Amino acid sequence: MSEAVSEELFCYRHPNVSTHLRCNHCGNPICAKCAVRTPVGFRCPDCVRAQQDKFYTGAKMDYVIAVAVALPLSLITAAVFTFIIARIGFFSWIISFFAAPAAGGLIAEAVRRAVGRSRSRHLNTVATACLVLAVAPFALWVLFTGNFLGLIVPAILLFLGGGAIMARLR
Ligand SMILES: [Zn+2]
Ligand SMILES: [Zn+2]
Repeated sequence: MSEAVSEELFCYRHPNVSTHLRCNHCGNPICAKCAVRTPVGFRCPDCVRAQQDKFYTGAKMDYVIAVAVALPLSLITAAVFTFIIARIGFFSWIISFFAAPAAGGLIAEAVRRAVGRSRSRHLNTVATACLVLAVAPFALWVLFTGNFLGLIVPAILLFLGGGAIMARLR
C-alpha cells in the first residue's frame, strides 16, 4: 500500500470539511469556502487580515510622515509668499504665478522622498490639506490688515501650489 497521493486535510476553521488546499503563507489547510484568492495565491482569512492590517498601518504612517514634512514646508512657503513676494508690488503676482507651482512641486517631492516607495492613495490630498492649513492664518492676517488685494498672492499659492502637489503626488 502506498501513501495517499495527496494527503487528506481538514480545514482549520471547519474541522469536518476535507480539503487539499493549504494557505500558501502559513500552511494551514483551508477549504474552498475559506480560501481567499490573492495575487500571490490562496491564503487563509487570518493571513489576509494580517496583511491588510500591515497595509493599513503602513498607510497611516505615510500620512503622518506626509504631514510632518508638508506642514512645516508649507508654513515656510506661506510666510515667504506673504511677507517677501507679496511685498514686491505689482510683479509679485507674476512672480507668484511661477513660484507657486515650483513651491508646490518642491513640497510634493519632499513628501515623496520622505515617505519612500510605498504610495498611499490620499497622499496628495493630505499634502494639499497641509498647504491650505498653512496658508489660512497668513491669508486671515492679510485680510485683517484690510489689504484685500494682498489676498491674490496667497490665493495663487493655494491654487497653483495645491494643483502642483495634487498632480505630482498622484
Ligand atoms: Zn494563512
Ligand atoms: Zn473552511
